[in-house]
Amino acid sequence: MNPAPYIGRFAPSPTGPLHFGSLVAAVASYLEARTNQGKWLVRLEDLDGPREIAGAADAILKTLEGFGFEWDGTVVYQSRRNDLYQSAFEALEAQHSLYPCGCTRKEIADSVLLHQALKGIDGLIYPGTCRHGLASGKTARAWRIKTQSENISFDDAIQGQITQNLAQEIGDFVLKRADGLFAYQLAVVVDDAAQRVTHILRGADLLDSTPRQIYLQRLLGTSQPHYAHIPVATNLQGEKLSKQTLALALNPSAASQQLWQALDFLGQQPPLELAKAKVSELWAWSHAHWELQSIPKVRSIYYRQ
Ligand code: GLU
Repeated sequence: MNPAPYIGRFAPSPTGPLHFGSLVAAVASYLEARTNQGKWLVRLEDLDGPREIAGAADAILKTLEGFGFEWDGTVVYQSRRNDLYQSAFEALEAQHSLYPCGCTRKEIADSVLLHQALKGIDGLIYPGTCRHGLASGKTARAWRIKTQSENISFDDAIQGQITQNLAQEIGDFVLKRADGLFAYQLAVVVDDAAQRVTHILRGADLLDSTPRQIYLQRLLGTSQPHYAHIPVATNLQGEKLSKQTLALALNPSAASQQLWQALDFLGQQPPLELAKAKVSELWAWSHAHWELQSIPKVRSIYYRQ
């Protein structure tokens, strides 16, 4: 049987304009898909209404066009797919994998202090207060998924073997938030499955989220994509470039320099004379020379903006 055709994707959140860090993820996922004769999808992860900036989604697509990216099919918007997330949520609920949680952030922080529980990889480890039912007088705020104390491992094409014990390192995590929105972890798994994504190439800041996503894939019975996590671009303080750390917006009128820098960041050693070439020439060179194996096998790299 032939393996499934390659389907990759780029899934920016429209919380601001694209910056160098997003360009690197777009370039890597694009070139890896194209050099594998694959499709490359664009999905706007605009689930988190409160964090969104008006017009950012359109600006992202314009910028991608300005850099010469060509995506397959129509752009998917998570904000229009609530029914899909709801069905997955109900399937998990029917398996008794979910429970309502009435704890506020403060209560969780207090109970963690009280029981000397640990800080996890991604915030406090939920101490399981509501796992066996809401205490009387409590109402459901968020919905959490029960995690298991077992190792989840996967082989990342760049970062190597990654192993995590969800119960010990993350804790029961939220799938539906107190504000009624579905969490990123659920939406991303549902969409990657619905869009038949076979290869996920994204920033290493999401490496620690991957075991949660694999856990959900197993419970939902969907297939596990291949993963490759590229180093994230950071500032001098080691913080990921983002709107919060004042990352500069990409400028399509300087597309070739920025594309050249992204290729350089990704270890591709683009020839110096191409830094001022036309974007189309830079793409032609990249398609011919792209090597996933040349990407530095680290989680972050300092990038001077
Ligand atoms: N929307 C996420 C972000 O912008 C990326 C999600 C993913 O690639 O899985 O950080």
